[in-house]
Amino acid sequence: MASDIETVVIGAGVVGLAIAAELAEAGRDVLVIERHHTFGTETSSRNSEVIHAGIYYPEGSLRAKLCVEGRDRLYAFAKAYHVPVHRCGKLLVATTEAEVAHLAAIEAKAARNGVTDLRRLTLADVHRLEPDVRCVAATLSPSTGIIDGHAFMAALEARVLNSGGQIVFNSDVVAISADPSAEFRLAISSGGDVSDLSCARLVNSAGLGASRIGHMIEAGTSGYVVPGLFPAKGHYFSLSAGAPFKHLIYPMPSADALGVHLTLDMSGAARFGPDIYWQDDLDYAFVDADRRREVFAAEIKRYWPSLPEDALTPAYTGIRPKIYGKGMPPADFEIHSEAQHGIKDFVALYGIESPGLTSSLAIAAHVTGLLDR
Ligand SMILES: Cc1cc2nc3c(=O)[nH]c(=O)nc-3n(C[C@H](O)[C@H](O)[C@H](O)COP(=O)(O)OP(=O)(O)OC[C@H]3O[C@@H](n4cnc5c(N)ncnc54)[C@H](O)[C@@H]3O)c2cc1C
Repeated sequence: MASDIETVVIGAGVVGLAIAAELAEAGRDVLVIERHHTFGTETSSRNSEVIHAGIYYPEGSLRAKLCVEGRDRLYAFAKAYHVPVHRCGKLLVATTEAEVAHLAAIEAKAARNGVTDLRRLTLADVHRLEPDVRCVAATLSPSTGIIDGHAFMAALEARVLNSGGQIVFNSDVVAISADPSAEFRLAISSGGDVSDLSCARLVNSAGLGASRIGHMIEAGTSGYVVPGLFPAKGHYFSLSAGAPFKHLIYPMPSADALGVHLTLDMSGAARFGPDIYWQDDLDYAFVDADRRREVFAAEIKRYWPSLPEDALTPAYTGIRPKIYGKGMPPADFEIHSEAQHGIKDFVALYGIESPGLTSSLAIAAHVTGLLDR
């Protein structure tokens, strides 16, 4: 019996939309199912909107490879489809002599990842580029930039629809069975009703909901374990004063976050964050704003001593869909296909945290490659 749809993608975040666009443009019959009323309301609209160069990730990891590839694809896509981007560059700053070795290690890692355009600056260069920054050493990443994430997702949505793909909103996938006739049967809750839909190929791109979806399907490979979810919130403060910066400013990263950095949006407004706050739930509430403002101010003053008093306003939070807990070694993107879970025509994406926005178009190409195998 023929399936209702050839390929279903669960989740209309930036990654699910990119996968669906790639499939639809290749002439495949594709449907995206999203539980909210529109695309990208979860992690894809609660991030820094930075196009990362690919500097930080372990050599040979999917994060390293797909970031470098995705960055180039993203700049090309933005140019072709008129998505606002600004290749503003970023300064990586060491604020103490002890951090200079860390900066050198990051430069070496970047080179191993194929990021060949980093340039160590003299302090005179730093002063010329960003007179308000204080540091003892700095490196310029010219290929780092910013993007209007909403406009990018709107362009992807248009690519899906214009190529004959479909997207349904307000539709929560609540159960899945993989039956012996090699079909997936999905139960979808919408407006209080539950309906059924079958598909021949299935992509789980549900972000913070990916583990829940993964647990709905029994693995074909014994011993296969669906990656768990360890939500890690990041808080952002906006700068209520004007920002004197033209570049993004990043301090040295910690093991599980990039440090309280300064990013700019397309209007030139500055925001700081995200920090890292491990939690057990998916609550976006801003936690302990007054104490956190003090911590942020102290971190920021390490590289911007003249941060004006009372200029930090709580802005928003985002939740990283981490698949490792606090204190555990950082994980790579986990993109599982038959080779891992033993189920044909099923691809599941876990732990698509940063640089998932930058990597989205490269992830899409990777996933369609796995589906066509
Ligand atoms: C604080 C923070 C800062 C970041 N900064 C950057 C950055 O500067 N640059 C960068 O490259 N990356 C950044 N990232 C990472 C990037 O935002 C993510 O990798 C990317 O948005 C993930 O997209 P996604 O489509 O996988 O997930 P999501 O955007 O979460 O989309 C998943 C979708 O699936 C839907 N869904 C879930 N369960 C179901 C279900 N059962 N039925 C139907 N629909 C369902 C959800 O509603 C959601 O819309 C950041 C992330 C965070 C948290």
